[in-house]
Amino acid sequence: MGGKCPHRKVKKRRLSHKSARRSKFLVKGDDAVYSEILKMAEGEGPKPLPHDEDLPGMGQFYCAHCDRYFANDDVREEHFRSKRHKKRVKQMNGPAPHTQLDAELAAGMGMPDNGPMLMSM
Ligand SMILES: [Zn+2]
Repeated sequence: MGGKCPHRKVKKRRLSHKSARRSKFLVKGDDAVYSEILKMAEGEGPKPLPHDEDLPGMGQFYCAHCDRYFANDDVREEHFRSKRHKKRVKQMNGPAPHTQLDAELAAGMGMPDNGPMLMSM
């Protein structure tokens, strides 16, 4: 009575979904990306990207907001127009994203008494 075809399992495992691959590229946390963009904003502008043959497009087409690499300029332009990117830019222009510290404070774990960051607030 039905049941799963044993071959389907194998096929599914091998299937490389875009979302699954994307998670490989999205390694940085929101707070890491945020600080990077802040650095870029006050820095001398975009720094030359190092060639990396492991990355799409040799790592030359990069979106700092999404921490993603693209195969070519067209794809990147398309990405800049995408909902996902715009949402991300909005997020990064807004208040600073939550950090691990926020999470710990919210959980009532707090900082030890010698926390200099908390004292200054
Ligand atoms: Zn983007």
